[in-house]
Amino acid sequence: MVATDLATSQRATEICRDFDGWYATVGVHPHDCGGFDAATVNALRDLTKDANVRAIGETGLDFYREHQPPTLQERAFRAHCRLAAELDLPVVVHQRDSLDDVELVLAEELGAAGGVMHSFTGPPASVPRFVALGMHISISGIVTFKRADEVRATAAAVPDDRLLIETDAPYLAPTPMRGRRNEPAYLAHTAAVVASVRNVSVSSLRATTTRNARELFRCAPTP
Ligand SMILES: [Zn+2]
Repeated sequence: MVATDLATSQRATEICRDFDGWYATVGVHPHDCGGFDAATVNALRDLTKDANVRAIGETGLDFYREHQPPTLQERAFRAHCRLAAELDLPVVVHQRDSLDDVELVLAEELGAAGGVMHSFTGPPASVPRFVALGMHISISGIVTFKRADEVRATAAAVPDDRLLIETDAPYLAPTPMRGRRNEPAYLAHTAAVVASVRNVSVSSLRATTTRNARELFRCAPTP
C-alpha cells in the first residue's frame, strides 16, 4: 500500500498489520508536501519502526500539476531520499514533467537500497540513466492505452532485473477496464501488454516482476 501523506502513511501501516504479505510505504506526495518540515521527517521515521514498512514514498517532483512550489517539492524529495538512505529503505518516486530534475536529486541523494520510478512514462533513452543510478522502472496501465507507443517502447527497454509492473490504483485502470476504479486484478491486462512488447510469456514476466519486487522491498518468497 502506497501512502501519500502522514495520515495515509499511518493508515497503510495499520492495514498491513492485518494481512499477511501486505506491505506499506510511508511518505508525503509532492502534491501534499505543503507543511513538510523536520517534524514530518521524524513522524515518518517513527512509522518505519513497523516491520511492514518497506519503502519511503511516494515522493518526487510534479511540475505538471504543481500543487506545491517546486522549491518546496525539491526540499521534501531530498528529505525523503535522505531518510531512505539513513534507514536503508528504497524510495518510491513520482515524477511528472520533471525527469531531469528528479535525476539530479537522485544522483545526489539516493541511498544504497535504490528505489522505483513508479508509473514511469519517460522515453526509452532515459531508462539506462535511472537504471545506472540504482532505480527500478515500474510500468502502469498507461502501457495498454492506444496512443502510448512510447511507453510500450520504454517497457521493452527496461533490463530484466529492474522491471516492475503496478496498478497505481485507484488510477490508470488498463484497457479494457479504462475509466473504472483500478484494482490489483486488472494488473493482468498490463502484464499481457508488457510481456508482448518484451517477447516473453506472461508467466515468465510474472516470475521476473514478482522476483524483482520481492528483492527490492525485501519480502519473503511466496510459500
Ligand atoms: Zn504517483
